[in-house]
Amino acid sequence: MKLGIVGLPNVGKSTLFNSLTKAGIEAANYPFCTIDPNVGIASVPDVRLDALAKIYNPPSVVPAVIEFVDIAGLVKGAGKGEGLGNKFLSHIREVDAIVHVVRCFEDDNIIHVEGGINPQRDIETINFELIFSDLEALERRYAKAVKAAKSDKSAQKEIELIERLKIELENGLSARSIQLDEEERTIAESFNLLTFKPVLYAANVTESDLTNDAKENSHYTQVVQIAKQENSGAFVVCAKIEEEIAELEEEEKRLFLEELGVSESGLDRIVSASYKLLGLISYLTAGPKEVRAWTITRGTKAPGAAGKIHTDFERGFIKAEVVAFDDLMKHSSVAAAKDAGLVRVEGKEYVVKDGDVILFRFNV
Ligand code: GDP
Repeated sequence: MKLGIVGLPNVGKSTLFNSLTKAGIEAANYPFCTIDPNVGIASVPDVRLDALAKIYNPPSVVPAVIEFVDIAGLVKGAGKGEGLGNKFLSHIREVDAIVHVVRCFEDDNIIHVEGGINPQRDIETINFELIFSDLEALERRYAKAVKAAKSDKSAQKEIELIERLKIELENGLSARSIQLDEEERTIAESFNLLTFKPVLYAANVTESDLTNDAKENSHYTQVVQIAKQENSGAFVVCAKIEEEIAELEEEEKRLFLEELGVSESGLDRIVSASYKLLGLISYLTAGPKEVRAWTITRGTKAPGAAGKIHTDFERGFIKAEVVAFDDLMKHSSVAAAKDAGLVRVEGKEYVVKDGDVILFRFNV
């Protein structure tokens, strides 16, 4: 999963990006890992991996990962296609979802580029840049579709959709907030619009706000409302605290957060918010050589899940031997879970569930 971090200058993007990706993980396992300083990876925290590692004692425990891209430079005027702006916008096109950092912390020492703290205005500023860019893209697409319609009747549907999207976008709406039926959704996806990407608003609050989930922070309440209106997600984070805990060991981190009265780290919050927004789950593979988590979309069938490991697994799929993580834990080994009748043999139509521990059988 690839998440792009955007937001106005001075809202805490880099602080958050650096903290989340500081832990750094073994790059060898992740071929996509580049040397671009604006790209970093973080492992998806999953206590189930540690529990499985205790059973199997493998030399390698591999968590699922999130790739973060720090998309700085998205400022007023970026959407008009001038100069550098365009480059930043093209980075956004490549991500699965956008994490939009919004400043909700008061601090007189940190200048706000637009004056005071005002999440609604800040969100609109960034969204307008993306909308501008999308309107340009829609103009180009429209011209093409009109040409195509002369010989291809099916282009008419596309023309109607573009006309509708243009009106909504000109009114300041993002494409993701517009109600579309399934067919329209498929066509809209092919436009690759920036404002069609799923968005998570990260409300960057002060340390004291984090303790009570920012319930008393009216800026955060505003962010949540905006998120709701446009089918986006929202969560609280304190970049300052993330910065402080970035270099701590897991146990120290837990104690530090506990003292603050906080149950989850920023990474935990981003992971659960993005999994929920994107409809993702994890399944697990476990053996004496490796224990590993794999991210899939909810609803993926067994062969598709196997394909995450290797395309050969999908092509030659025979069956999946599946045990739910909790059942495995209750019996402490696959053999004991099997004796208890809890290991199922599933075929091609099986829909994989979160926490399934799976062994795939396949032909090579
Ligand atoms: P960016 O321009 O959005 O990447 O913002 P930075 O991450 O560079 O942060 C800008 C300034 O705000 C830096 O001096 C940070 O230390 C400070 N900052 C970031 N997050 C917080 C926060 O949660 N609380 C406070 N008080 N300051 C923060």
